[in-house]
Amino acid sequence: MSLIKCPECNKMVSNTANECPKCGYDFQVKRDLNSFLIYLLFWSIPGILVILMMLFS
Ligand SMILES: [Zn+2]
Repeated sequence: MSLIKCPECNKMVSNTANECPKCGYDFQVKRDLNSFLIYLLFWSIPGILVILMMLFS
């Protein structure tokens, strides 16, 4: 467990907390967005390769 800084109120909050206890900032939304972007990036690489292979075959 470590502490992260709340982007809204700058309070140090446990990284296991889903929201800031002071201002109620939702950390879960940001975490989900990050994992979604990584997922998108991960799957776009083989997708681009398949498109390139189709273009040059
Ligand atoms: Zn906060």
